[in-house]
Amino acid sequence: MTNPLYDELFGRHRDSDRSFLHLPDGGTLSFRAFLDMAAQFANALGAAGLDPGDRLAVQVEKSAEALAVYAAAAQTGVIFLPLNTAYTADEVDYFVGNSGARLVLCDPAAEARLAPVAAAHGAALMTLGGDGRGSFADAAADRPATFAPVDRAADDLAAFLYTSGTTGRSKGAMLTQENLLSNARVLTDHWRFTETDVLLHALPIFHTHGLFVATNVCLLAGASMILLPRFDADAVIGWLPRATTMMGVPTFYTRLLDDARLTRDLVGHMRLFVSGSAPLLSETHEAFEARTGQRILERYGMTETNMNTSNPYDGPRIAGTVGQPLPGVELKITDPETGAEVAQGEIGVIEVRGPNVFKGYWQMPDKTREELRENGFFITGDLARIDEDGYVRIVGRAKDLVITGGFNVYPKEIEEALDAQPGVLESAVIGVPHPDFGEAVVGVLVPAPGQTPDTDAIAAAIGGSLARFKQPKRLVVLDELPRNTMGKVQKNVLRERFAGLFA
Ligand code: AMP
Repeated sequence: MTNPLYDELFGRHRDSDRSFLHLPDGGTLSFRAFLDMAAQFANALGAAGLDPGDRLAVQVEKSAEALAVYAAAAQTGVIFLPLNTAYTADEVDYFVGNSGARLVLCDPAAEARLAPVAAAHGAALMTLGGDGRGSFADAAADRPATFAPVDRAADDLAAFLYTSGTTGRSKGAMLTQENLLSNARVLTDHWRFTETDVLLHALPIFHTHGLFVATNVCLLAGASMILLPRFDADAVIGWLPRATTMMGVPTFYTRLLDDARLTRDLVGHMRLFVSGSAPLLSETHEAFEARTGQRILERYGMTETNMNTSNPYDGPRIAGTVGQPLPGVELKITDPETGAEVAQGEIGVIEVRGPNVFKGYWQMPDKTREELRENGFFITGDLARIDEDGYVRIVGRAKDLVITGGFNVYPKEIEEALDAQPGVLESAVIGVPHPDFGEAVVGVLVPAPGQTPDTDAIAAAIGGSLARFKQPKRLVVLDELPRNTMGKVQKNVLRERFAGLFA
C-alpha cells in the first residue's frame, strides 16, 4: 500500500521525536506527537463518513491542529479544501456548493453562521478553534493514534485550492499528489532546505504560499517551523533569532523595514529570506540588503501551478525579477492573441508546463479549456519578458493591461516611473473608461510618510520620459492601496472606485 503524499511528507517522520512545530506560547510539538494527532483526526474523518476522494472544506484559524487536518486528509485520501478565514457565510456557501464538500470544519465562533450553509448542501459541520478545541477535536480525542494510510496514486487529487478570484467567481484548482510533491522536491533542493532549518512561518495556511510552499518544503526536508498565527512585527522580531529562514509576502519585508529593530545583527545568522505572491519592489529588495546585508530571494508561482520560477540560491538574485524557470518547469512567453511564442525580450503572457501544473478547474470545463492548453501549457495571465540572462521580469496581469486609444500600456512601467518621484511611497496604475480613448491611464499615488506628492510636478517630470499615450491622464492620491491578505494590490477595487472619473 502506498500513498506518496502521506508517505513522503509525513509518514517517514512517524518515529521522530525531533521538534516539528515551535508554537507561539513557547511550546513545541514533535513530529511524532503531530502525526499521532493527525492519525486521530484521520480516524475522526472516517467516523464522520468521509471516503477517499470526498471533499473536506476547512475554514479554521492557523494552528498545529489545522495543519494536522491537512496531514489527516492526505492520510485518508480525502481532498483538502482550505478556505480563507476572511470569507463570509455567503462566500463559504459558494465553495461548499461548488465543491460538493461532505464535511465543513469551521471555528466554533462561526458555527451558528455556517450550520445552515452546510445543511443546505447536505454537508456535515464540525468545529475546530485556533486553540485546538471544538467538536472535531472532541470526536478525535478517544480515537487511536494510528491509521493505515489509504492507498493512493501520484495522480490522485490531493487538494482543491480556490483561486483568489479578484475578477469573477473563484475557481477550484484541482491539484494532485504529484503536483504538490514534485514542487516540494524541487524547492527543497533549490533552496537547500535540510533538517537543521527552522522556518519562521507567519503566512496564512489557506493559500499555496504558506501551505504548499512553506509547509511541504519543511516536511520534506524534516525542518521545523515557528508557527505564528499571523504577521506581527513584534512577534516576528522576537522569533527571528531562533529561525534560519523566512518566507513572506512583500508586505512582510516593508513592515520589517519600517521597524528600527530590523538590523544586520538581528538577522546576521539567517540563511535565507524568500519573497513571493506579489511583486517585491526593487527598492524594497535594495533597502533590505542595505540594512541587513541579506539579498531576498524572489520567486513566482500561483494557485494553479505551485512555483514556476526562482532566483538562484547561489548566483545573482536580481531585484525586480522572479528568476529563472525551476528544474522541470517549461516556461515560454507568448502573444496573448495568437499564442505564438514572442521574440526574446518581447512582452507577452507567461505559459508554463510541468509536473507542478494542476489538472483543471473543478466542474468548469470551459474555463479549463480557456486556460489550460491540450498540450499541457497553462496560460497564466501574467505578462512578462525574459531578459538576456534568462531572468523573468513580470510586468503585470494581462487583465490589468491598459489599452488607451489603441495603444497597450503596461502598468508596471508607469508605476516604476511614478515610484521614483519625490514624495511617492508607491503607486498603482489602472485603466478606467474614457469617452475618447476607450480607457484612460490613471495613476494612484501613496505618499511617503509625512509627505504630500505634488501631482503637477510629477506629471511634468514623467512627461519628459514617457510617451504621451502612457502618461496618466489623472493622478490621484490615496492614503494606502487596497490589498488582499497575500499583499496583492486589488486593482479591481481601484477600477471600480475611479470608474466615473471621465464619465
Ligand atoms: P495566487 O494564485 O493567489 O498565488 O496568485 C498568483 C499570482 O500572484 C500570479 O499569477 C502573479 O500575478 C502574482 N505573483 C506571485 N508571485 C509573484 C512575484 N514574485 N512577482 C509578481 N507577481 C507575483
